[in-house]
Amino acid sequence: KKITIAIDGFSSTGKSTVAKQLAKELGYVYVDTGAMYRAVTLYALRKNFISEQDFDKKALVADLPAVKLKFIFNPEVGFGEMYLNDENIEKEIRQMEVSQYVSKVAAVPEVREMLVAQQQEMGKEKGIVMDGRDIGTVVFPDAELKIFMTASAEERAQRRFKELSERGEDVTYKEVLENVQERDLLDTTRKDSPLIKAKDAKEIDNSHLTLTGQFERIMDLYRA
Ligand code: C5P
Repeated sequence: KKITIAIDGFSSTGKSTVAKQLAKELGYVYVDTGAMYRAVTLYALRKNFISEQDFDKKALVADLPAVKLKFIFNPEVGFGEMYLNDENIEKEIRQMEVSQYVSKVAAVPEVREMLVAQQQEMGKEKGIVMDGRDIGTVVFPDAELKIFMTASAEERAQRRFKELSERGEDVTYKEVLENVQERDLLDTTRKDSPLIKAKDAKEIDNSHLTLTGQFERIMDLYRA
């Protein structure tokens, strides 16, 4: 029987890597909710609603009906890629600039309301692995399997720095660490749906786990 798997945790804990692996193994649909918050952030950046100096939340909220998000499955990569108003933005939303602003955009209640509703709609059909910050607490409080992933900020920054450098982004480890720490703070202290572990979630600290080790642990929980 198919179930709902909720994977939450801090930035760069490797949630999406393991979530994709699980979806592939189980024949489930994978949904990256961070991509949706990133897409709204990209929209806000393009419209100049957000910059280093200020953030015009009202303008963004007024424009939300014009933000059409969609995942389209790409068989070449094996998961759904993020589309904003029919444009594939999968690469652009991973850039550092989007990472810098996304937690501010994700703190806007109207943005969360819209995205949570879309996520719940996608999850109506069982057989889904969804990763994010509030999946086990807000989006699917009844999910049959909830995982909460953690790792030290330094370990996470190291992994993310490696990934961004390999992609040719011009960033330093220090910048990445600061971004990870800032997002942790914003994500855990925002008023609306802060990042917290659901009571019934299983915590996995993967600071010292290999990808395979982590995958096996979740598969054991799934089978149990
Ligand atoms: O998972 P990812 O790092 O791509 O998420 C980007 C940001 O989106 C997070 O730092 C968080 O601020 C926000 N987010 C959220 N709720 C989710 C998923 C992501 O607030 N369910």
